[in-house]
Amino acid sequence: MALFKPLENVDERKIVKEMPKGVERVKCLIIGSGPAGYTAAIYAARANLHPVLYEGLQPGGQLTTTTEVENYPGYPEGVSGPKMMEDFKKQAQRFGTDCRYGMATAVDFSGPVHKVTIDESKVIEAEAVIIATGATAKYLGIESEKKYAGSGISACATCDGFFYKGKDVAVVGGGDTACEEALYLSGLCNKVYMIVRKNYLRASKVMQERVANTKNIEILFEHNTKELRGDGVVEEAVLIRRKREPDESETRIKIDGFFLAIGHTPNSEPFKKYLETDQVGYIKTSPGSSKTNIPGVFACGDIQDPIYRQAVTAAGSGCAAAIDAERYLAEKKQ
Ligand code: NDP
Repeated sequence: MALFKPLENVDERKIVKEMPKGVERVKCLIIGSGPAGYTAAIYAARANLHPVLYEGLQPGGQLTTTTEVENYPGYPEGVSGPKMMEDFKKQAQRFGTDCRYGMATAVDFSGPVHKVTIDESKVIEAEAVIIATGATAKYLGIESEKKYAGSGISACATCDGFFYKGKDVAVVGGGDTACEEALYLSGLCNKVYMIVRKNYLRASKVMQERVANTKNIEILFEHNTKELRGDGVVEEAVLIRRKREPDESETRIKIDGFFLAIGHTPNSEPFKKYLETDQVGYIKTSPGSSKTNIPGVFACGDIQDPIYRQAVTAAGSGCAAAIDAERYLAEKKQ
């Protein structure tokens, strides 16, 4: 069922006049506030699109859960994730972006004007929408993940692996991401354990072979993580081997870092009714652009990128989305 009545064949001046309370019309709406959203805002604001940006549940996005960012060009000394996102936001605001708290809870992309409901109450009508809602790393849900957050737990080896140079670490998961993370870490760390709950890897054959051919990676098949221990930082993982089998046993591994690679959930739920996504839920964009299957709706950052997932690639795609939006609006005007 459509959430709103279609707008076709209606005098737009009348709509503005008679717009129900709680409805606002904007030129460019950006949903999401990670590197992709803020970069899109910087470019959109400088192109005079007067962007309104809704920050979502976690203003600043995934980077605000990272301690030090050392691989973003332009920060030779490194920078904390929250500080970097604060800088991005300030830069977006400097050019006039209207940054607001709030979350897109529903959309209606069926008409010529796109409607986005914020916090289940306010409706924004936008000529162009840029979606930059990112993806959320999955966690196991054990208590010690919270206890050691930022003290030995990470969901991104490329971001945090450097801090574990020469140390022993573990990667949880048996998919392509886990293999990639383990291979990346094997070049930095002394030893990498892969904690895999099944007795096989789900990853592609080529990745499996690479892992098998890497001497300092040890796969612990049929192991589940029970808890993490340590004095303020992760020092040990307690694992259950062959859980719920007659020969179930407990083992411990000494580690300094615990990397989660059990998948990401793209934050695309409110858009799925209108936008094409892949099987996992990543929004599909046409190759080489940020265009989705709906004209005037663009996607950038991790919400459309299951492969690279880096701050710098997200920022780059945010720039592309703003340029695509600007061109779309210019063409529409002609
Ligand atoms: P996947 O869903 O493919 O794999 C997740 C892994 O985590 C599985 O081994 C799964 O185990 C395990 N897992 C899930 N939940 C738990 C849990 N609670 N406890 C323990 N283990 C758990 O996710 P990926 O992120 O690896 O990949 C997502 C997609 O992206 C895939 O299609 C992949 O091929 C693709 N990708 C491609 C890359 C490339 O081409 N370079 C790089 C990275 C990803 P189980 O098998 O038992 O379910």
